[in-house]
Amino acid sequence: MNIVLLGAPGAGKGTQAAKLVEEFNLPHISTGDMLRAAVKAGTELGKKAKSYMDAGNLVPDEVIIGLVIERLAEPDTQVGFILDGFPRTTAQAVALDAELAKLERPLDAALLIDVDPEVIVRRLTARRMCRDCGYIGSAADAVCPKCAGEMYQRDDDNEATVRNRLDVYDKSTSPLVDYYRGCDVLVSIDGDRDPNVVYADVKQALTA
Ligand code: AMP
Repeated sequence: MNIVLLGAPGAGKGTQAAKLVEEFNLPHISTGDMLRAAVKAGTELGKKAKSYMDAGNLVPDEVIIGLVIERLAEPDTQVGFILDGFPRTTAQAVALDAELAKLERPLDAALLIDVDPEVIVRRLTARRMCRDCGYIGSAADAVCPKCAGEMYQRDDDNEATVRNRLDVYDKSTSPLVDYYRGCDVLVSIDGDRDPNVVYADVKQALTA
């Protein structure tokens, strides 16, 4: 199964991806996670990406496209993949299509997790992540409920940056909804519900 997860930051793409990974054992390719790992490791890529990420802006297409193409060349993606947070611009979507055509691995679905922007602001400013296992929780989690690791707030989850990320989504990424509708692979799912209920719809859409 070759899947793209679409939706604004905080719509729940990471949460749904984790459930898909658990059930279908597909590699989860999150460009945000890859960039955060590069920042943490202090690599050239991380140094280039950090200022864009801190401001809630997009890292330039030429940086991110190469990263994803390299990742798709790894053997674990032969069984399929879940792309989370990529593509985010039309140029990225076009580059992805070209690469997948070359690999003869077309997309099966572009799943849009649809959530109202004001709900997202509330969700993201309350979001906390586990430093050890990446669990996504909330300000109510003193320690990670999965592994007892330390919970932290992402630098870009403050309200001003969240609002900028939503503006960037509106301008640069939301046109991809029509793009994938035109390719006949778009499935839109109401993401403003319990994550398990959302997942039931995700699974049905993928296995129907
Ligand atoms: P995310 O974890 O998906 O919300 O991504 C965090 C940040 O990483 C974004 O706000 C961007 O600065 C950067 N980023 C992640 N994916 C992309 C992408 N496909 N294109 C450009 N920038 C990205």
